[in-house]
Amino acid sequence: MTARPDQTEAGARAPYATPDDLRQALVDAGVLHLTAVDGVHHRSWDWERVLRGVEAHVMAKRVATNAPRRWFPPVMPREEFLRTDYVRSFPDLVGSIDVFTGGDREHRALLEVLDEGGDWTAHLTPAEVMLPSSVCHPLYGTLPHDVPAEGLDEECSGWSFRHEPSLDPARMQVFRMYEFVRIGTPEQALAHRDEWLERGLSALAELGLPVRAEAANDPFFGRVGTMLAVNQLDAQLKYEMCVDLTEVRPTAIASSNYHEDHFGQTFGLHLADGAPAHSACVGFGLDRVTLALFAVHGMQPDDWPGEVRSALSL
Ligand code: ZN
Repeated sequence: MTARPDQTEAGARAPYATPDDLRQALVDAGVLHLTAVDGVHHRSWDWERVLRGVEAHVMAKRVATNAPRRWFPPVMPREEFLRTDYVRSFPDLVGSIDVFTGGDREHRALLEVLDEGGDWTAHLTPAEVMLPSSVCHPLYGTLPHDVPAEGLDEECSGWSFRHEPSLDPARMQVFRMYEFVRIGTPEQALAHRDEWLERGLSALAELGLPVRAEAANDPFFGRVGTMLAVNQLDAQLKYEMCVDLTEVRPTAIASSNYHEDHFGQTFGLHLADGAPAHSACVGFGLDRVTLALFAVHGMQPDDWPGEVRSALSL
């Protein structure tokens, strides 16, 4: 068993020394189960019921009460994935799906390679779907091209995949997020990002999480990517809501992002004057917030502070 960190005055536990300690505590308590692949976990019912409470808590903070809500499947159309430019900016994180489309002859050839211990996957073909890298990505391709003057509000929930195998329980390869998205003028998008940063911090503080905002950048790939990351940070396009779960590094459990006109351009979303629409999204990492709750309040949800349990309807 890993020793639990000391209780602090605020009722929250001091951060674990390392991600390894946090992972071990989760596994020892049966909250998460490891698999043969780093970053792919089985969740316990305790984890799930907390996560569903987090989703309901976050959803209750909506202000655009007419915004449609959608729960996405864990795959999205390949053509729409390409338009997000993720392959250009984050090729190392992308998850493509391969399927078998041959007949008996091709199947025999595949089995031959498989039996010889060879690369049988070379006999598969990329499918018409991919794994979404961000929960709001499947949204943009389904929106009307003419954005109304009052803008569009949308909410979505779903799975994301990012190929970054890690033993750090904060870096899962597949995870769920709940997002509030706004498409409209630059002013509408920026206001959405800023208002939700405040609203998000207080929603997370209500769960007893010692959360703070930090300017952030995405992990763009390669040499050009380093420049893009610096630009993103300089332009203050992205803010993360962070908690110290370990002494090693802060963990972002939500983020508030201004995309400028990126999705407006690539998905053909226009304002009344024909200019590409701007967009912003705030994403609550449902698995990350759940992880933070276990790290901060302990491995037994039944023992968590009453106000946290009631906010989560536990
Ligand atoms: Zn998003």
